[in-house]
Amino acid sequence: METAPAKEDRYSRQVLFKEIGAEGQKRLTEARVVIVGCGATGSALASLLARSGVGTLRIIDRDYVEPSNLQRQSLFDENDARESLPKAIAAARSIARFNSQIEVDPQVADLIPATVDSLLGGFHLILDGTDNFETRYLINDYAVKNSVPWIYAAAVGGYSVTLSVLPGETPCLACIFPESPRGTVETCETAGILNSAVNLVASLAATEALKFLVGARSKMRRSLLSWDVWSDEHAELTAVTPRDSCRVCGGREFIHLAGTARPHITMCGRNSVQIHERERPVDFAELSSRLQPHGNVRHNEFVLKFWREPYEMTLFPDGRAIIKGTTDPAVARSLYARFVGS
Ligand SMILES: [Zn+2]
Repeated sequence: METAPAKEDRYSRQVLFKEIGAEGQKRLTEARVVIVGCGATGSALASLLARSGVGTLRIIDRDYVEPSNLQRQSLFDENDARESLPKAIAAARSIARFNSQIEVDPQVADLIPATVDSLLGGFHLILDGTDNFETRYLINDYAVKNSVPWIYAAAVGGYSVTLSVLPGETPCLACIFPESPRGTVETCETAGILNSAVNLVASLAATEALKFLVGARSKMRRSLLSWDVWSDEHAELTAVTPRDSCRVCGGREFIHLAGTARPHITMCGRNSVQIHERERPVDFAELSSRLQPHGNVRHNEFVLKFWREPYEMTLFPDGRAIIKGTTDPAVARSLYARFVGS
């Protein structure tokens, strides 16, 4: 019977890297990291850190795998897309196939003010695999308030950008972007995205994470670094100390944590709307038979899919739904109310 490889063998090449060494590797084993969002950047971050031997990884994602993800979301395969597996679950399964010696805690959930403490509490470092500024400001508020370091990472088109935030020591996201660059930001839905841009930013962020986790804090980059892999334009904005007038660092006003904001309704320009008004545990088998006469329906342990032209509803066990085929919340809500309940 085969056994898992000895830890000494598995990490031997990383331990040889003298900045990490045996002591650094031990620290990685004891490290607890949470990754928010497991799309392209989150997949790459999770893969790198899992292979590096970070002992505990929590992966939070609210979405499910689709065929259009496979070009860049490296933890997923065609079978995950066929089954519409939640990304957090698919990521945990994928990681277990190459490193069964670490703990992966998948959370199929939306990070919102009401869930931020329970989802982010108890971790040494928070990594950004999200696709929107709203969630990043929420992470930033939580991180500064609780003095937990986090690393911002984003990619769109060929462009990628990253910033490491050490609360109280370096500028936070709001020091640099007091307002979300609304209106001018392109998304991967409009500008497309190169998988190489994703891997670049994930490599930079994962390396900063390793530096932090092994105790090489002084080696961490103190700048906002951006790089376009296609045009090869790159820029570095020095970010050494927090800005006094920052509402988060200076004012300690955590407006995003206090946010009575309801769960995000829109899904990053995806012709989809998310419905999650309240916790509503759903019995998939019972609902399946009830929906049968009204369209096509199938379910597994993690999701129920219901097709009724021109809409496609994906329902999670806690009652959250993503409705594809509309960007109008009213249309999505009425569909939900009619077929799931109000
Ligand atoms: Zn700040």
